[in-house]
Order: sequence, then structure tokens, then C-alpha cells
Amino acid sequence: MTLARLHDGSLHVEDVALTEIAARFDTPCYVYSRAALSAAYAGYTEALEGRNALICYAVKANSNLAVLNLFARLGAGFDIVSVGELQRVLAAGGDPAKVVFSGVGKRREEMRVALEAGILCFNVESASELKQLNEVAAVVGMCAPISLRVNPDVDPKTHPYISTGLRSAKFGVAYEEARSLYRQAAELSHLEVKGIDCHIGSQLLDPAPAAEAADKVLALVDGLKSEGIAIEHIDLGGGMGIRYRDEAPLTPDQYLAPLLKVMAGRKERLLFEPGRSLVGNAGLLLTRVEVLKPGVEKNFAVVDAAMNDLARPALYDAWHDILPVAPRNVPGCRYEVVGPVCESGDFLGHDRELALAEGDLLAVMSAGAYGMAMSSNYNSRPRAAEVMVDGAAAHQVRRRETVAELFVAESVLPC
Ligand SMILES: *Cc1c(COP(=O)(O)O)cnc(C)c1O
Repeated sequence: MTLARLHDGSLHVEDVALTEIAARFDTPCYVYSRAALSAAYAGYTEALEGRNALICYAVKANSNLAVLNLFARLGAGFDIVSVGELQRVLAAGGDPAKVVFSGVGKRREEMRVALEAGILCFNVESASELKQLNEVAAVVGMCAPISLRVNPDVDPKTHPYISTGLRSAKFGVAYEEARSLYRQAAELSHLEVKGIDCHIGSQLLDPAPAAEAADKVLALVDGLKSEGIAIEHIDLGGGMGIRYRDEAPLTPDQYLAPLLKVMAGRKERLLFEPGRSLVGNAGLLLTRVEVLKPGVEKNFAVVDAAMNDLARPALYDAWHDILPVAPRNVPGCRYEVVGPVCESGDFLGHDRELALAEGDLLAVMSAGAYGMAMSSNYNSRPRAAEVMVDGAAAHQVRRRETVAELFVAESVLPC
């Protein structure tokens, strides 16, 4: 949460005052820091120094072209879950040869487009997908590079909605079935076995489950080797957590150390798919207080950002720090910080001590991941603008949507 610093009594991102950003681009507005994004990426490259490794940024966390372009320029690959994300990566200058394609429900058309684009690997999640991908590859006369997403069945001890590596999850193939599926894959003429992957969950704060998963994956790799099935790369997914409130912040170094110990001396290329930890603390959501509404039981601060802009509080009961952009030196009171959307679940923060006046700006912190990417037009609210700060310059990297754009694809019955 060092993204915003107080300078002359008001919050700045890098060298730009948030008041200036609000004046130029209006609110609600996502603000990202180029320096923070680069630093987060450097944390991984430094932790992986000297290893044959590739960082495939999980596009779903924040798919703005400027963010993707920045990571592409830093040498990143990408983890995608749809052809839409692939098109974004290509439009942003990403290298298809560094793209892995995850997801439980890839459509055949998506498989074909990704195959023809020349991606690094399909992370296959079921027996049916293996067969379908083989058929698609046969039609276009190509060989599809594959990895099987195995479910190591370790408990990542995170929120159940973001825990993905348990036997009960919809993701991946069961550990016990993986070997026979690899045998099948090796026999299919239009598939080429390249790797193995797993992704056990998100917002992980303990490095032990990832190391345990790596250990299980290695046992499988060695078993496959004894059958003559060679695995070139091991993809250990993403999931490293960040500090939203008071979580003990792990550096990539600390998070990866136990896992890299398990991997010591291995020849396989290592892939990682971090999302949240690359962008989460590099972004904030800037919003303005519209109405202060004192109540008998609770005081409400109604702001111009809502659950359609930042769904995490409503969806996961997630906690985001909320800071006044120009702190007042007067006693505050406790507020429910809520949006204007017609849902009781539309809140950004409960019971926050703030000294506020109508018109004040607030910064909702740690909003760079799963913020704009999960936004919607619920209540016919145009999506927010996005701005990237680079030193003393603020660049608009997505303009605010217009209301007209919201229904441009719609039509009424002819009569
Ligand atoms: C969501 C996801 C990621 C990224 O997870 P983070 O917790 O944001 O790091 C990586 N790989 C796969 C397969 C995912 O579904």
C-alpha cells in the first residue's frame, strides 16, 4: 500500500496528485503506476535470476492494453483464458510464442485461433478437451502443444471462491488420472506433450501449499519420464497473495524460495502465471463523495464508484483500504462507504473512520487486480476511465465509456 504518498497534504501516485487526475479525467477512475507495475515484475525476475523461467502474466487480473504492453516490453509471456484475451495480448504487442491458454471450457473456434497464432501451450483441463483439441489440430494440419492441468489436491487455505486446486474444484484433472491421460495424449497424432501445469488458488499467503503442489507435480513428471513421456516445462500457476489490509506481505523471493528448493537441479523450464501479485497493489480506484447521509444506526458516504466498478467487496466481502485524498485535520466518524447501485450489497467498505465532506475524493487502494477487469455496466453505468501514471505524466489508457455505447448493439422489435 505504498502506491499513494502524501505530499503537500494530498495523495500522489508517483509525482502526480490524485486531485489533478480527478480534475482532468473525472471520477470514478482507475489509476495505475508504471513504476509499481515494473517493480512487481522485477520482484519475480530477480527471484528467478539464473533459472530457465518464464513469467506468464494472468491477463484476467487486469487486461488493459497499456498494462499488457508494459509487461510485454519487460519480456513477459501471458496466461489467457479466452480468445478475447489472446487478441488483447496481440494488440498490445505480446509474443504469441510466450502465451499459455488455460480454462475449463475452450471452444473449438478458440482452439483454432490460438493454434494458428502459434501459442506456446494449451493448458488442457479434461479428457474431452484433449480429444477436441486433437480434432481441431487435425483439421488445420497442425500439432497442438499441450500441458495437462493437474489437481494436486492441496488446500491453499484461501477463500473458497478462489481455491481451485482441490479435488472438488471444477478445474484440472485428478492427480490419479493424469498419468493415463498423458498416455492418451501421447498417442493422439495431432498433439504434442510439452508440459504440466497446476494452479491451486489465489491470494495465497503461505508458500507451503505451492511447494507441496510442486513436489506432487515432480513425482508425476518423473513417473511419466519412466514411461518415455518427456515434460519440457513445469507451469506452477499463479496465486501469490498481496497485502490488502494487514496480511503479512510476501515478496516473490519469499514466496518462491520453498518451491524453488523443491525444483533445485531440475532441467525443465519453469513457468509461472501470476496475476494479482503483479497488478493488485499497482492500482487504485479514485472516487468522489456525492452524498453524506447520517443515519440513526449508520452513517453513509455515497460515492460515485460502485460494485459495478469494483465487485470484490460485494462478491468476496473483500477488504480494501479507503484513504482520503486530502486528509482533514478534524475528528472523523464511522461511515459505510457505498455506491449508488440499487443493491444492499453495493458497498466498498464497512465501518470506516473518515473525516469527510461532500465532494471529497477517496482512493480505494489495492484495486489494480480484478477491479476494472470484473467491472460491468449494471444499472447502465458507463465503465470508469483508466489512467496510468509514469513519473510526472498521467496518461489516459482507457477513456470513460459513454452512455450511448452501452446500448449501441441493441435493437427493438420491428413491429
Ligand atoms: C486466475 C489464474 C491465475 C492468476 O491467479 P492470481 O491469483 O491472480 O495470481 C493463474 N493461472 C490460472 C490458471 C488462473 O485461473
